[in-house]
Amino acid sequence: MDDLKQRADELDAADPLAGCRDRFTIPDGLIYLDGNSLGVLPTNVADRVADAVSRGWGEQLIRGWNTAGWIDLPRRIGDRIAGLIGAPEDSVVCADSTSVNLAKVLQAALALVPERQVVLSDTGNFPTDLYIAQGQLGQAWALRTVAPDRVSAALTPETGVLMLTQVDYRTGRLHDMATLTAKARSLGVVTIWDLAHSAGALPVDLAGAGADFAVGCGYKYLNGGPGAPAFLYVRPDLQNRVSSRLTGWMGHAAPFTFDPEYRPAEGIDRFRVGTPAILSMVAMDAALDVWDDIDMQAVRQKSLSLSGLLIDCIERFAGEFGLELASPRDDHNRGSQVSWHCPDGYAVMQALIERGVIGDFREPDLIRFGLTPLYLSHGDVVGAAAILEDILRRRTWDQPRFHVRDRVT
Ligand SMILES: *Cc1c(COP(=O)(O)O)cnc(C)c1O
Repeated sequence: MDDLKQRADELDAADPLAGCRDRFTIPDGLIYLDGNSLGVLPTNVADRVADAVSRGWGEQLIRGWNTAGWIDLPRRIGDRIAGLIGAPEDSVVCADSTSVNLAKVLQAALALVPERQVVLSDTGNFPTDLYIAQGQLGQAWALRTVAPDRVSAALTPETGVLMLTQVDYRTGRLHDMATLTAKARSLGVVTIWDLAHSAGALPVDLAGAGADFAVGCGYKYLNGGPGAPAFLYVRPDLQNRVSSRLTGWMGHAAPFTFDPEYRPAEGIDRFRVGTPAILSMVAMDAALDVWDDIDMQAVRQKSLSLSGLLIDCIERFAGEFGLELASPRDDHNRGSQVSWHCPDGYAVMQALIERGVIGDFREPDLIRFGLTPLYLSHGDVVGAAAILEDILRRRTWDQPRFHVRDRVT
């Protein structure tokens, strides 16, 4: 792999994002290829959260909702996320979890097309998205899933809602949001995009695509911490025409009038539900500081450079050990993660983790690697591939302890 090592060194020397690694706290010696599951800790977060605990909770107490602006955090953070996903101000709110947000926007979407019957998604969608749809669709609606490359052809006038995750959580396959949204719109189909593996991973242009709704995750590429609040987007001209069926007091026009009748707030605020988790919101807000001067085109360029290099490295020995690339080779169709079908993939991943290379395993047989351009180098990629080759060649993974399944993989 000497030639690849040299290529990595050259790419790192010319990398405009190389300095961003200093914005994160990463344990020494670790090659972390799982930022698509839980992003690393931005260095400024710990102090900000500590301050929110000691000065905010400890001293300001209830006054903090006004004096520290806690009540506005979901909107302020929403506006910051909006800047990363091509959304205008006042169209994104940071709240709840991705699952809950999806339930909210799905109900709003269904109500826009009451005469239709089908919610269309793809078989690669993340299970929680499909579960939420299964739970939210009443008798009148059916959930239809087709293979990802059949989605466009399956859009028909019966389709009411197109609900897709832009980047496939297993394979990294990237849907063409602009083209699919345009076709959906031409047929009167409402679109919901899940940006869990897109926000912070690649440039997204929700407004340009004309998407109706979107949801996304705070703890993956946005590094908001374990269980960080998620976000949702509603196209501005729709906001006052739709409403969530989770009509909590924080989505009321005037929560502190304690009016017994629900009246939706104007705009995106009506998609809030209950009291925001302020300590998590403070962490999320601080974590977003790392993006302030970042150009998403540069992130995309480096992401493809990292994932392309990882593919080149691993494909050199993949066939010998029965590994098969599950991700698109073509840059245009690939998000920011790469995975391989791998015999005994679970044990192989456990052995990798023990050697300090953290990726993850996804059923049924995938070893998966997330590429996060702000804190990974090309050298990390070559180093990880070399350790994987060593584990496969020496069959280090073939030990009982690597086969014991943890609850979270
Ligand atoms: C990670 C992920 C989620 C996570 O949902 P939570 O409600 O945060 O558990 C949802 N959808 C997709 C596509 C994901 O990748």
